[in-house]
Amino acid sequence: MSALSDLQATLDPSRRSWVESANHSTNDFSIQNLPFGIFSDARNSARRAGVAIGDEIVDLDALQAAGLLSVAQERVFAHDTLNDFIALGRDAWRSVRIQLSDLLARDTATLRDDAALRSAVLVRQADAQLHLPLQIPGYSDFYSSKEHATNVGSMFRDPKNALLPNWLEMPIAYNGRASSVVVSGTPVRRPNGQLKLPDQERPVFGACRKLDIELETGFVIGSGNALGEPIACEDAEAHIFGMVLLNDWSARDIQQWEYVPLGPFNAKTFATTISPWIVTLDALEPFRVAQPVQDPQPLAYLRHEGRHAFDISLEVKLRPQSASEASTITRTNFRHMYWTMAQQLAHHTVSGCNTRVGDLVGSGTISGPTADSFGSLLELTWNGKNPLALKEGGTRSFIEDGDELTLAGWCQGDGYRVGFGPCVGEIQPALK
Ligand code: CA
Repeated sequence: MSALSDLQATLDPSRRSWVESANHSTNDFSIQNLPFGIFSDARNSARRAGVAIGDEIVDLDALQAAGLLSVAQERVFAHDTLNDFIALGRDAWRSVRIQLSDLLARDTATLRDDAALRSAVLVRQADAQLHLPLQIPGYSDFYSSKEHATNVGSMFRDPKNALLPNWLEMPIAYNGRASSVVVSGTPVRRPNGQLKLPDQERPVFGACRKLDIELETGFVIGSGNALGEPIACEDAEAHIFGMVLLNDWSARDIQQWEYVPLGPFNAKTFATTISPWIVTLDALEPFRVAQPVQDPQPLAYLRHEGRHAFDISLEVKLRPQSASEASTITRTNFRHMYWTMAQQLAHHTVSGCNTRVGDLVGSGTISGPTADSFGSLLELTWNGKNPLALKEGGTRSFIEDGDELTLAGWCQGDGYRVGFGPCVGEIQPALK
């Protein structure tokens, strides 16, 4: 069989695993998914690369040591980030995917029937700790949901001219802060900053009073471009290793005072949370759909043929510290995004800006067309005017101390799921 038909076989919806938990139609980590992450466990505290399958993790370093995984570089998985593996290139990612899919398939006896081998290479997710999977050289964040940009423009400027004239011509973005990207589960401290209260002439300094989420996805650069050499829109997806869920925590009051003229700074730099597993574009392939129609037609460097959106269901839950159950505060879908990841990357590099392996690129807040599908509390409560009712009583205009916010995302196949795992953060009180 050719490499391409082997890759196609990893997407076969009827393929099932001998890891039975992977076969449940709502488990994020089916044999069709095989996302990459970095983990450690009580048995071995060294951080190393793994692939999620059902409720388990395949230890890739152990698998390579056992001679069951062929990769061009020795011990490439025995690192505390995935960068060196990603740098091997797309053929290597695909080769590992194909080998794993085969080893984990129900009919393959190699691991299935060897208890000693299984115990050497499988770690229960419940017994593992997940870590930030990347060394992230740079982080940029786009603003590519038309619904989100329209809502924010209506609130902060003018409902009649909610979209600025450049918005339909280019994917708008700013350079974010890579140093404060944290993995799911890391507590997030409420930031202090300058707040401009409407009844006072000068700003005060204090804790953010309008702390918010932004429901986003991010993509990870798998092969970069040299300085001065843009990536063409048609080639852009080949440069992407995979996707994560991303919560771009935002301090709305700090943001509103500081953002003119150069954009957000302290309002966004205090933390960005990502989900620990990177879902490859190969795994997302069956969920490719058409992007929204773009009118006006973009300039030539932003054009691509075919379908470049992905059908990824998204939701956010909020659980107050005192509550036993979380409330779902929004449900939407990544497919609504106006600008595609390929267009974002083409635009990012068209000036000659280089990108590097591990760079993280945020989609921008993903808001759907209806009032219950918005991707931020700012929009869901319309800047606090319409507080949300929570399941166990109480309301929220913005996030309170002790609240736990969880993003979830998944592609639902026929009897299987390609999911991201949760992207969680709990808010701690501001420093006094
Ligand atoms: Ca954002």
